[in-house]
Amino acid sequence: MSQVSTEQSETFEFRAEMKQLLNIIIHSLYTNPEVFLRELVSNSSDALNKVRFMKLTETNIINPESELKINIHVDKDAKSLTIEDTGIGMTHDDMVQHLGTIAKSGTAELISQIKESGKSVDANLIGQFGVGFYSVFMVTDEVVVESRHAAENSVSFRWKSSGEYGFEIEPIEERNRGTKITFKLKEEYHHFADETSIKQLLKKYSNFVDFPIYVNDEEVNKVQALWHKRKDEISTEELNEFYKFISGDYQEPLSHLHLNLEGNINFKALLFIPQMAPANLFRDIADNNIHLYSNKIFIQDDPKDLLPEYLRFIRGVVDTEDLPLNVSREVTQSSPVMAKIKQIITSKMLAHLDEMASKEPEKYDKFFKQFGSLFKSGVNQDYTNKSKIVELLRFESSKTSAGEFTSLNRYVSNMRTEQNEIYYIMGNFRNEVDRNPNMEYFKKHDIEVLYLLDPVDLFTVPYIFEYDGKHLTSIEKADISIPESKSENDTTENDEVKNIITFAKEILGDKVEDIIQSKRLVDSVASLVVGKNSLDPQMEKMMKMMDKEFIPSKRILELNIEHPILKNLSSKLSSEPENEILKLTILQIFDIAMLNDGQSIDVSDFTKRANEMMLHATNRI
Ligand code: ADP
Ligand code: MG
Repeated sequence: MSQVSTEQSETFEFRAEMKQLLNIIIHSLYTNPEVFLRELVSNSSDALNKVRFMKLTETNIINPESELKINIHVDKDAKSLTIEDTGIGMTHDDMVQHLGTIAKSGTAELISQIKESGKSVDANLIGQFGVGFYSVFMVTDEVVVESRHAAENSVSFRWKSSGEYGFEIEPIEERNRGTKITFKLKEEYHHFADETSIKQLLKKYSNFVDFPIYVNDEEVNKVQALWHKRKDEISTEELNEFYKFISGDYQEPLSHLHLNLEGNINFKALLFIPQMAPANLFRDIADNNIHLYSNKIFIQDDPKDLLPEYLRFIRGVVDTEDLPLNVSREVTQSSPVMAKIKQIITSKMLAHLDEMASKEPEKYDKFFKQFGSLFKSGVNQDYTNKSKIVELLRFESSKTSAGEFTSLNRYVSNMRTEQNEIYYIMGNFRNEVDRNPNMEYFKKHDIEVLYLLDPVDLFTVPYIFEYDGKHLTSIEKADISIPESKSENDTTENDEVKNIITFAKEILGDKVEDIIQSKRLVDSVASLVVGKNSLDPQMEKMMKMMDKEFIPSKRILELNIEHPILKNLSSKLSSEPENEILKLTILQIFDIAMLNDGQSIDVSDFTKRANEMMLHATNRI
């Protein structure tokens, strides 16, 4: 840097590197140019923090009584902005050092990144390299900085630059402690010379700055950095207000979690579970649920890597001193600090939910009803916490009333002694699964069956696989080992069973995979089940919805040999094996089982047979 000195004013030339940087800052097109305000306010906030500390440690300080604050003046007519603080201020050398050179390394990289980013540059890039002050040159052609350091006997100076060649510094009349930055907006940024938009930007980026901010003498950041307070200092009312403010939700939150971690990793977080999920949980959850702060200065509101997918319904604020302000999205995402915070938040939130589940079960069920579908996906996403998530799952069952839940833990503790498996049935509606013929045996014997009514269960159940050493078993599969089934159902003579099955096989041929005697039917004649190694029937239905060409696996037909129809059929088989009605009966039994299984049949064939049978029956009246 070369220096030309006149009596009062000195002129400094920027170094080549600096010139190059400012040149592209000045001449690029931007997305998010408004971040200049965040950068200037954050510098003021830093300066105020420093003077606050200085006041504690030193006695002689200029204007010790003046309020620690940031004053912003918007001049709509002149299209200019002034940002003034009562912070620590700058000495002559500070100005030369901090506003004239690039202290941080990596400028060449910043320059090449800006150049590479094509048509429009993300203004966040500038801040990210620790040269936030210069972002003001995006929106103005000339900046004036007036400052007085807080130390006793300090002199006031004015720094002025157009960002092209260099800067001037001159002493000025004594002013108040702190820094005042003034500039006129470039034509394309005249819209920033507007009180309302400045206030909005402050709300977005600087609302929780720990010092009052005034815009044209009106205090704008009334909301405090609540998460910096102690838990017992925050009222429920404040929490609710805060939640509503950051979320835009009109309802109060269902629950909140306040974290204050100190040690290897330092962060504070105030996290909320909303009352209501969006209409479509998977599609409509916003990206900006978590606001990330670095020491009360807003960094970004969509930090992808702060929460696992399955907890993305959580809203709130995370504030860490361990991340540099201005860190870019890419850097944030790959930062080990973020990974660590995510890990802690996840396990604390799971513990919080667990506590809620045991202490406030109704509240927990409310949560699960709203967010369960998304939360469940944690079973297949988060291997480390899988067992905790599994404990937190809730299902309806044959023993709960509609809309009420049980847990796997409760299911297992209610199991009958001879029962070794956890039974479930999948379906879309409670009524539908409740009426499924495969439920008959379980109802009769008072064995609980979980009703998995959420489509997402299709994907989670295979991942749960077993709980407490007990397999999760679909009652729609063949070969389930039903407790006590042998002694009660295997009463029929073997030959009789064999005859019916052989006859049915002849008629149905390859329409079915197999035909077996049912152990689980009580009132129904027959039902269809899938083979032990087949997909769950619900899964097949879904595959079919997604792929029209999908061919469902053939079903196994289970026959309830004890049923009067089959009893009749069995005796007729030996006396009149050629009677047409026998064949029609088997075909009808099969079609009805198909319908119960939710499958389509040939309606005209079905009708023809039904008519024939009715004709026969009416004939005999
Ligand atoms: P950073 O804030 O990361 O240090 P900036 O480019 O934003 O980088 O600011 C450069 C430096 O200029 C600051 O570190 C500080 O020393 C000085 N500075 C900027 N604004 C102010 C201010 N309002 N009061 C005091 N010093 C300031
Ligand atoms: Mg800064």
